[in-house]
Amino acid sequence: MKPGKVYLVGAGPGDPGLLTLRGREVLALADVVVYDALISPRLLDYAPPQAERIFVGKRASAHTLAQEEINRLLVERATGGATVVRLKGGDPFVFGRGGEEALTLVEAGIEFEVVPGVTAAVAAAAYAGIPITHREVASAVAFITGHEADDKTGSALDWENLARWKGTLAFYMGVSNLPVISENLIARGASPDRPAAIIHWGTTPRHKVVAGTLRTLPGLAAAAGLKPPAIIVVGEVVALRDRLQWFERRPLLGRRIIVTRSRAQASELASRLEALGAETIEAPAIRIEPPDDDAPLREAARNPAAFDWIVFTSVNGVDAFFAALAAEGQDARALAGRKVAAVGPATAERLARSRIRADLQPDTFTGAAVAAAMAARQDLAGVRILLPRTDIAPRELADALAARGAVITEVVAYRTVPDVSGARAAAEAIDRGEADWITFTSSSTVTNFLDAVGADRVRASRARMASIGPTTSATLREARIEPTVEAEPHTIPGLVEGIVKHDGRTR
Ligand code: SAH
Repeated sequence: MKPGKVYLVGAGPGDPGLLTLRGREVLALADVVVYDALISPRLLDYAPPQAERIFVGKRASAHTLAQEEINRLLVERATGGATVVRLKGGDPFVFGRGGEEALTLVEAGIEFEVVPGVTAAVAAAAYAGIPITHREVASAVAFITGHEADDKTGSALDWENLARWKGTLAFYMGVSNLPVISENLIARGASPDRPAAIIHWGTTPRHKVVAGTLRTLPGLAAAAGLKPPAIIVVGEVVALRDRLQWFERRPLLGRRIIVTRSRAQASELASRLEALGAETIEAPAIRIEPPDDDAPLREAARNPAAFDWIVFTSVNGVDAFFAALAAEGQDARALAGRKVAAVGPATAERLARSRIRADLQPDTFTGAAVAAAMAARQDLAGVRILLPRTDIAPRELADALAARGAVITEVVAYRTVPDVSGARAAAEAIDRGEADWITFTSSSTVTNFLDAVGADRVRASRARMASIGPTTSATLREARIEPTVEAEPHTIPGLVEGIVKHDGRTR
């Protein structure tokens, strides 16, 4: 068998956006991903679904796999022919033991490639508003392991030199040794008034910064209860933070928000919230599946000319209909001469991707309002209307159209099924009092989420509820849960805006 290859990939410091393009490219090639504790779990989504994912994270107390075992694992899998991505926090060669892993591969004769990553000191400082060099105050920067700071255990560090160092000092793995670091530097002549900061979980929603001086920082950090992972930065550049802070000004920084949506669609809401600083907990409450019997949908897609109008009420309906159209060997041209309505901007946008511009896009999305908007266009008596929808679509729209004399063909384009896989994470966050918000983007997400997590738990929680619109709010109220915020407009951006208006910190 042809031996495989190992990619030593830097995953960056935590913010998944800081993975390099090359890193993402090679993840897509992986048969096996071997990953550490500090990387964003979201990066694993870039690997193919069937790729094996092996966690070898080292946590200070319980080593999950010893380094020799990791080395052996890499060699073993690559020898077996696999493409292995060794995904490491930050940069693989900066305090990451990537050098040791590479040497092992060389000895075993295994081909490898190194994909550098954004190292924690650079990134955490940047997100804290600290430029680690600056023409006037720091012309050098030193990356130091704070792990070996303790003199009593025989320090490998040259404290005389570090105390005299004119540039910036960046200590990795130094949290528990912070008092020793500060003491050693001051004892060797560094000014106790040198600015210093500690950056906890830099670049992530848990990002926290405590700033002071060499003398005050240990006390301040202890008072704030800061734990690893953190970077300690010492030097005049730290003072620039007062003016250069940006990340900490984002309106939802540190908020924990439960996002209930089908997996395929969770990402837009989640990424909008994250861009504003929130941490999201994805709890898919529903899953989209093909219909049990796709014959009616296929039949409709075979001969769209049998209808005067096609009314799409969801992105999933659009996707399913066009997939059926393709399966019938057709494309958008088969809709020539049909009128198309799109309920909701996301539905219209998805249609536009298939090069269909909706003839009608009602402003209000209730069944009655959609029917009224269509009736305003033309007399609906005898008009043939296709509704490709979910199996659990409310009756309202079909009834309202039929009441105006239209001939309705409703086909199940997809099924909406409860998905409890994310429920545990959400339930735990609620129980620990960590969830600040729970978002609901449809009535079925309300029903399924409450079933999966327990309505009592949700009612008892301190989390606030954000609902996408009146129908969803009504379903919440039926469960005796009052939405704190209702989106206006009833869209994902409207939902995000509602949360920010209600909860966003003011600048
Ligand atoms: N190879 C990594 C460093 C591994 S050593 C890199 O290049 O960044 C692990 C140490 O990195 C932690 O103890 C902590 O000091 C630092 N670190 C990693 N991620 C961090 C983050 N998001 N914020 C602050 N420090 C971080």
